[in-house]
Amino acid sequence: MSETTETTESESTIQKVPSHIVPATSYGYKMEKQGAQNIALVNGTPYPVPKFDDPYKKREWMLEHMAGAFRVFGRRGFGEGSAGHISIRDPVDPNTFWINPLGVHFSLLTASDMIHMDMDGHMLRDGNTTGSVNAAGFSIHSAFLKARPDVNAACHTHSVFGKAYSAFGKPLDMLNQDGCLFYKNQAVYTGFGGVAIEKEEGRRIAKAAGKANAIILQNHGLLTAGTTVDEAAYLYTLMERTCQCQLLADAAESDGRKKVIIPDETAEYTKFMDYDPESMYLEFQVDLGYEIAKDNSFMSFTNAKNAK
Ligand SMILES: [Zn+2]
Repeated sequence: MSETTETTESESTIQKVPSHIVPATSYGYKMEKQGAQNIALVNGTPYPVPKFDDPYKKREWMLEHMAGAFRVFGRRGFGEGSAGHISIRDPVDPNTFWINPLGVHFSLLTASDMIHMDMDGHMLRDGNTTGSVNAAGFSIHSAFLKARPDVNAACHTHSVFGKAYSAFGKPLDMLNQDGCLFYKNQAVYTGFGGVAIEKEEGRRIAKAAGKANAIILQNHGLLTAGTTVDEAAYLYTLMERTCQCQLLADAAESDGRKKVIIPDETAEYTKFMDYDPESMYLEFQVDLGYEIAKDNSFMSFTNAKNAK
């Protein structure tokens, strides 16, 4: 059987499957259930996403994980002067959000350094009130969180490989298993209108994103989002490396050596089985756990409680 015939048959099989029956790939692999059980055998996920009755406790947990995400970004060298920001939607007042102060190295940030803002640009008094906020950061994150009630966190930096790949204004190819998490989950904002100080630029970025959680900002960098800051941060580290892989593969391609692109069906199956909030949370705890073991000074609230 030729390769073309196989593809045609598998596509027609999928199209004929009634909606109440679980779709399967042409290999017979079923897309049955999402969740961390797909990657964690025997005892389930070592890192279930915590649930909170008290939104104030949830806020502290989110802020500590946000600061931890910065430590991971710092270790990976994502900083570029004062550029780069992470935001989280406040669980107490979801119409407000927290963002990092301008001009502090990612590797020095702690949970109690974060600034609480409303969507109109006012600083709220229950966060850090002495720092300033990156104007472009406010513009991007306020517009994005407003436009996307389905996400609770967003990450954006000027990391090198994302910035380099963004110059092409093209989505990532499905080149490897990890990259499949971006299958139908990426968008390109091609309308770079200069530094995003104007709120309108933030709105344009949010509009271009659609429902995607991974956005390439052409001639600028990367933006990722998630239901938790952990998910958004993991997706960011993965997207940066996926840009690096794509640049390496593109540069190595020649007449005698062509890239093999993963077929849609396989990419869709991999994304379905590996990409969900629980699995993304689990993935990020690997890097976060390392930061906690090395230096947990970013966990301001936990450390203050333990000191009592
Ligand atoms: Zn930027």
